[in-house]
Amino acid sequence: MKLYPLFADLSQRAVLVLGGGGVAERKVAGLLAVQAMVTVNAPVLSPQLRRWVDEGLVAHRTEAFQADWLDAVWLVVAATSDQAINREVAAAAAQRRIFANVVDDAALSSFHVPAVVDRSPLTIAISSGGDAPMLARLLRERLETLLDESLGALATLAAKLRKRIRLRFPAMAARRGFYENLFAGPVAALLRQGRPNAAWAAAEQALASTPVAAVGSVVLVGAGPGDPGLLTLRALRALNEADVILHDRLVGAGVLELARRDAERIEVGKQAGRHHTTQDGIHALLLAHARAGKRVVRLKGGDPFVFGRGGEELECLRMHGIPYEVVPGITAAVACAAYAGIPLTHREHAQSVRFVTAHCQSSRDTLDWAALAQERQTLAVYMGVAELGMLQARLIAHGRAATTPFALIENGTRAEQRVVTGTLAQLADCALKHAVRSPALLILGAVAGLASSLAWFGEPPLTATVEPDSAPGARRPINDAVEARSSLLAAIHQA
Ligand code: SAH
Repeated sequence: MKLYPLFADLSQRAVLVLGGGGVAERKVAGLLAVQAMVTVNAPVLSPQLRRWVDEGLVAHRTEAFQADWLDAVWLVVAATSDQAINREVAAAAAQRRIFANVVDDAALSSFHVPAVVDRSPLTIAISSGGDAPMLARLLRERLETLLDESLGALATLAAKLRKRIRLRFPAMAARRGFYENLFAGPVAALLRQGRPNAAWAAAEQALASTPVAAVGSVVLVGAGPGDPGLLTLRALRALNEADVILHDRLVGAGVLELARRDAERIEVGKQAGRHHTTQDGIHALLLAHARAGKRVVRLKGGDPFVFGRGGEELECLRMHGIPYEVVPGITAAVACAAYAGIPLTHREHAQSVRFVTAHCQSSRDTLDWAALAQERQTLAVYMGVAELGMLQARLIAHGRAATTPFALIENGTRAEQRVVTGTLAQLADCALKHAVRSPALLILGAVAGLASSLAWFGEPPLTATVEPDSAPGARRPINDAVEARSSLLAAIHQA
């Protein structure tokens, strides 16, 4: 190791900073945050440094640097653009055995200022020894996203209870078990929710009761539609803490790659006609792993509460007393619309948007078709590929204009995304021609017509096929190619 890591207590200790610009300002800000007594030496100050001086938070010296100033300080930071001064400061500091940092000059510095992730009192400092500061910064950003903001509060709580925990659990193994539960269980969950009082009560209760085997927990996490970039920070954190991940088939490999390496991954995907785990089977797996003390992530495509059966899973967990949390995800309708350039409620075209599913006989018959056929609303239809003919016929029968634009988005947000557009009258034919496959989402309404002009992701939308008797000039080469490919696909599809 090149540098010895150390955290310095600078509270009420004198520190000298040379320089009055932006760099000096950042160093002073960091020093003020730990209550150091800062003196700035510079002829001219940045507006912020000026304010701190005027407010009495920082002392100011304008004259040229004198080495004997260092006799009165614990640390010195040289942040001037003048190499000669920086060198002089470093030499004077070395002579007095005072630690000096010369900004952006590792060779002249006897201490480095690391990149910091602040979850006070928990502090993570990262240094590359001055060799790769950008890499250190990148790492800092990663850790920043991974560590929940409530970690500081958790550390404070643990610190305040430390003596009592030691008394209560004198044996190391029992104490470690208690801490593990404290950091991963309901107390931490309550702090994440911003409920410190309830967290304290839960911690007190845990301290008072006889220790039982650690109860696991379940986080129901929405994985979004496929693009891993659409995960929330909370989802990412849950994936990083998981012991077991029960995921749907729809969850993309890119998302799973972001999970803890040694987490056990179990696919509980459901696909008509293929191997699948029943809903009861999923419930049994959730209970078994949680009861074994595991932190379980139940990872679902899109949002867990939008046609995701997340509700049933929570009911089961509640019934069996397993603690749970829910992390929402970006649902397919919202994601596919965004990635196809379709503003779902563009004010000129729609006042509402409905998320609909019509994948089985019962939902088909209980849907209010007259309401769905009304103008000035957008329909986002999930799980509809096999039902498009029925959908088209019923909507038109209930008065929705046959000219209403649609967009079918297949594999939305993924590299393979395809968008097919046309009008309601062409819907079923068009889907067949282009061999649209699941997962695909249908957006119906005037807003779908905007996909042709606002598309930005992947290939431009495929349009409904031009009738053979239309003017040859109207045929675009791209459509010919697409048509040839899709009639081939349609033939395969039908076979
Ligand atoms: N809970 C999920 C929906 C599950 S139902 C969510 O909130 O998105 C499964 C249906 O969602 C699919 O049949 C399809 O209609 C839609 N869907 C999910 N991911 C999709 C994607 N990447 N592209 C298009 N449709 C998708």
